[in-house]
Amino acid sequence: MKKVLMSFVLFVVTFDAFSFSPVDSVNTLMGTASTYNFSHGNTYPAVAMPWGMNFWSAQTGENGSGWMYTYSENEIRGFRQTHQPSPWINDYGTFSIMPLSGDLQVDNHLRGRMFSHENEVAKPYLYQVRFDDGTLVKMTPTERGAIFVVKFAENKRQFLVLDAYKDGCGVEIDTTNSCITGYTKNNSGGVPSNFANYFVVDFDQKIVDFGTRTNDSLMAKTTKAEHFAAQAYVEFDLSPNDSLIIRVASSFVSKEQALLNFEREVQDHSFCDVLLRAKNEWNEKLGRIRVGGEADPNTIRTFYSCLYRTLLFPRRFFEYDGENKPIYYSPYDGKIHSGVMYTDNGFWDTFRAVHPLFTLLYPEVTECVLQSLLNTYDESGFLPEWASPGHRNCMIGNNSLSLIADAWQKGFRRIDAEKALKAMLNQTLEQGSESSVGRNGYEDYHNLGYVPYPDYYEASAKTLEYAYADWCLATFAESIGEKNIAKEYFIKSQNYRNLFDANIGFMRAKNKQGEWIEPFDATEWGGPFTEGCSWHYTWSVFHDVEGLAQLMGGHTEMVKQLDSVFSAPNTYNYGTYGFVIHEIAEMVALNMGQYAHGNQPIQHAIYLYNYLGQPWKAQQRVREVLSRLYLATPDGYCGDEDNGQTSAWYVFSALGFYPVCPGASEYVLGSPLFEKTVLSLPGDKSFEINATKNSAEKVYIQNALLNGKTFENNYLTHEQISSGGIFDLKMSEKPNKKRGIKAENLPYSYTKIDKLKN
Ligand code: CA
Repeated sequence: MKKVLMSFVLFVVTFDAFSFSPVDSVNTLMGTASTYNFSHGNTYPAVAMPWGMNFWSAQTGENGSGWMYTYSENEIRGFRQTHQPSPWINDYGTFSIMPLSGDLQVDNHLRGRMFSHENEVAKPYLYQVRFDDGTLVKMTPTERGAIFVVKFAENKRQFLVLDAYKDGCGVEIDTTNSCITGYTKNNSGGVPSNFANYFVVDFDQKIVDFGTRTNDSLMAKTTKAEHFAAQAYVEFDLSPNDSLIIRVASSFVSKEQALLNFEREVQDHSFCDVLLRAKNEWNEKLGRIRVGGEADPNTIRTFYSCLYRTLLFPRRFFEYDGENKPIYYSPYDGKIHSGVMYTDNGFWDTFRAVHPLFTLLYPEVTECVLQSLLNTYDESGFLPEWASPGHRNCMIGNNSLSLIADAWQKGFRRIDAEKALKAMLNQTLEQGSESSVGRNGYEDYHNLGYVPYPDYYEASAKTLEYAYADWCLATFAESIGEKNIAKEYFIKSQNYRNLFDANIGFMRAKNKQGEWIEPFDATEWGGPFTEGCSWHYTWSVFHDVEGLAQLMGGHTEMVKQLDSVFSAPNTYNYGTYGFVIHEIAEMVALNMGQYAHGNQPIQHAIYLYNYLGQPWKAQQRVREVLSRLYLATPDGYCGDEDNGQTSAWYVFSALGFYPVCPGASEYVLGSPLFEKTVLSLPGDKSFEINATKNSAEKVYIQNALLNGKTFENNYLTHEQISSGGIFDLKMSEKPNKKRGIKAENLPYSYTKIDKLKN
């Protein structure tokens, strides 16, 4: 949770194209003060290009630990190429380099060097640290490589260790050309047996001594080692004012492709050129949203730090061959294919806001992600749900269907629609070798209308997510004229109703015989739910909030229930987990009742007030979360950041709207954080959001004008934003209880509003 702000200095951000450098507002250390037991983000300071194939990070944790960089640590053991999307998923294809002044220590447990954060610079395009012994290291990224500058401490021996980790690796030192090449096969699952990351590490200085290490034994003067785990070391003899320049690149395709990537991206480039290119690239991507007006600089830092996190994943897992055509090593069938592949994404998290943000502001990414989804289907028989780099057994749902339906409805129509429909149908009618691939419990779900518990773990969460996925499939099928399929799946999309117990007002688990599972405790985590309890999952009806409201007895009753999320005590029953999982600890720490913003299931719930004719409650709550639960500091997130999702919530909410139901092409209104925000959209269009008189107290929308005309709706359509325009809001400290209350002003729901009940 954020610390209390001590500075209230306000400053006006100008929109001067030359001075505008949003990347310098990013703190990549946001979220790094995390542990296994309590997450303030579980992030690491990734030095990378947006969606880059390889990220780089200083490594404080020991090899193999998901907590690669922890803010409270005071030793760095390496500078690591990483592909880790989350500590819970861990890394693959990782290797590190570590410059050492003085004694040679190859082992990662012994080679750490002390540093302090005062001597550290952490930006998306640059990480720099001066160790306590005086050694200075700088690194800057390319898509598939990096350039390092090392200044060794004076009057000390000068070593560099390359650690290729484990699971089968090779290193080879070339003293003539002053470089180390090799490969590493380390992974955490989800790869075929021929998986490898091939690397080239080149030095601009002569190697004067060298050796390798395997099985804890150092072999001086050997140039080559292949083993389960392997490291290489080299020694230099630089004159006192000289620096060592290290150029690195790698490939998942082959050794030859690694050399090609090396030649293209780093070989003849200087550190400064690469740094500038990375900086410009970040500024172009981050600069598609310009926030300003009178704003606290800390708020601007938080905004761009969150936007940076949103633009890291999914990563581009493809490379360019000798003819500059995209190719990739498939983490599904182990073959080389032409085309694009993206990975390191759990759609359970990112379908909610990350991918919808791309459809609006980074459509070039959405286009490629769609291709990548169908490539995954071609190569594995399933769409991905949690890929890193191949299918991983993690989380639940068929949220890949949300990505396709959302993009399709917003006009992304270059995919093979017939194949997409086939893939989507298959996703609901089959299960892969892992329960998270395809649809676990599909037979029972289709026969009974819900996934029974305890026959299936997390059964009720699955039912709710499948019902939404079925709606996504139905809208897609309807759009391409497949009326029968659409009809069938629209009916299935109502399956959420089967788990709502009107007597208690909550979603709850049912057994195979159709009986409620007793006893019921709304605060019981796990079991039929995923990393949450019924307080969090009862709202998981993205596509039919009106239907849910009617089950609850109407809008007034649902408002009461939603209010009680925040007023209920923050108690918990850890249920089947058997211990306090970190998400529980984070909810308790928030002290916002049962509201658990540190995890994804409930992140859309505040916006539901808009469906119930009380938009001012959403406006107030959104601003409370924006200001209380995020800050660009190491402890600045209130739970796992999760591949951009928790950040994308902030980004959207700061703009003043949020995609509650991807697939409906709507963004439900909240309360914009800034006085002025400008979105740069494709086709040289812009969408300007002006919130006059906005302040920490004036969070309520008094009235709204879209392109000069009175605007009463509680949502903007994708079309309204993407075609460009001006959205003027007048803010006030008092709610306008007459605005946005009529049935025609409420966002999309599958069920039509029952005017008699509301
Ligand atoms: Ca999470």
